[in-house]
Amino acid sequence: MERTFDVVVAGCGVAGLSAAVAAAERGLQVAVLERASRADRGGQSRYTEAYLRMKAIDQVSDDFETHLAENAAVYMDPDFEAEMAQGRESWSHAARALPVLDPELISCFADHVPETIAWLQGMGVKFDFLPTQFLTKTQPRLLPVGGGEALVEALAAKAESLGVTFLYHTTARRLIVDDNGTVQGLLAHHAQEGGLRLMGKVVLACGGFEGNSALMAKYIGPRSVYLRPVCKGGYFNRGEGIEMAFEAGAAPSGEFGSYHAEPVDPRSGVSEPSIFIFPYGVLVNKAGQRFTDEAPGTVDAYYERVTRRIYEQEQGIAYVILDQRVKDVPNYRLAIRTDQPAIEADTLAALAAKIGLPEGALEATVEGYNAACPAEDGFKPLELDGLATQGLAPRKSHWSRRIEQGPFIAYPIISSNVFTFGGLKINPSGQVLDTDGNPMENLYAAGEIVGTYYTNYTGATSVLKGLVFGRRSGNHIADAR
Ligand SMILES: Cc1cc2nc3c(=O)[nH]c(=O)nc-3n(C[C@H](O)[C@H](O)[C@H](O)COP(=O)(O)OP(=O)(O)OC[C@H]3O[C@@H](n4cnc5c(N)ncnc54)[C@H](O)[C@@H]3O)c2cc1C
Repeated sequence: MERTFDVVVAGCGVAGLSAAVAAAERGLQVAVLERASRADRGGQSRYTEAYLRMKAIDQVSDDFETHLAENAAVYMDPDFEAEMAQGRESWSHAARALPVLDPELISCFADHVPETIAWLQGMGVKFDFLPTQFLTKTQPRLLPVGGGEALVEALAAKAESLGVTFLYHTTARRLIVDDNGTVQGLLAHHAQEGGLRLMGKVVLACGGFEGNSALMAKYIGPRSVYLRPVCKGGYFNRGEGIEMAFEAGAAPSGEFGSYHAEPVDPRSGVSEPSIFIFPYGVLVNKAGQRFTDEAPGTVDAYYERVTRRIYEQEQGIAYVILDQRVKDVPNYRLAIRTDQPAIEADTLAALAAKIGLPEGALEATVEGYNAACPAEDGFKPLELDGLATQGLAPRKSHWSRRIEQGPFIAYPIISSNVFTFGGLKINPSGQVLDTDGNPMENLYAAGEIVGTYYTNYTGATSVLKGLVFGRRSGNHIADAR
């Protein structure tokens, strides 16, 4: 069956819905494809609390652009860096197709956050500085009341009121490209109806590849078997959008071998069963040994780096070991999202036996750690207190208090995959760039599918990225009519 629209959007998360609403508001006929059911629509966006890196309703955080720029590339050639400080028109062929987040895109992103938030407020979404799971933090985070689900439902309701066609259980598979390389639509598949030819300009907003084990192994490596999506929504994102765009000549961007890491309890099936309490205890691996500084700084700024160290351990797992004094930390429960109970025992030996650590290893580790802890005056659980271990490797930089008051507590922690970093390269209008750095005719991308980050995620920017560039794609298509 063939159907024609002005715009065909693959994906029904914040990015796809923003593109759809923006285009429909300008009078375009839009279709949104969602591989899931209507009840499950919204991908990852449905499950996120959607922290937004903003210090006010109309201002991004002070470090928004610098943090993105610092994590936009690795060992960038300084000549390219100098080129990119000038206007895009003057960039060389090589600079135009570099797989990095370029400065123009970063400033466009930051500049368009406030108007995008105001646009959502116009759809009835409320925002507030609500409590987060981070007990210590460096940057403020604004939240939509009701989280990502509220964003998805407000945008979808608006799209429905504007007459957008929703095609559920419909999976985008391939782009339809003519001999000039111009995208004419896409081929999709519905389990009962079979193949669909959907003609129109295409916005790819179907997420990363966290739900595709083959692509995870290909790009992130065989150890990715120890990773899993942080919530059920991640399983819908299987990388077809990236693969179909590559097949049509699109350029890559972002770190393909990496992903956003968040520490979770592997025993739990709830969305985002995170464990952010490790700065107040020690982390040990399956050998019962410490392997990282558990508290290099505020937890919001460092949890990803610590989680990557957990992923590197045998079978990608570690255990946080705590004693009863963790309960001195105000609101400590905020940092433990799992629905599974703590593993508890009266002695460290009994705790180690319950976890399955080698005999004597945990006691020896905690003994060494306790001996390296400083006097405890000055323990300040909610700010960097500088209570660092002395002469211990690896050291612990803050909140180092002896672990001695049983019953002792442990939680298992693995790294979850919140989303993958590698994806497509776009310009500020949301147009996908080809491997020569030129915009591909009629092809746009927004959201997770846009390759953005290297080494360290700029926290609380992924939802904003989807909203801003989804909306910009829809508007650009309408402008170009
Ligand atoms: C638990 C959790 C917490 C997070 N916390 C934050 C946070 O606090 N702040 C923040 O900024 N970011 C956060 N993130 C990341 C952020 O939520 C996502 O990266 C963002 O919402 C992605 O939006 P998207 O629209 O690009 O993709 P998604 O919301 O994942 O939407 C993709 C859509 O495409 C559909 N789809 C996939 N493939 C196809 C196909 N081939 N054909 C048709 N449809 C397809 C999916 O079903 C889905 O509807 C979090 C993510 C999770 C999961």
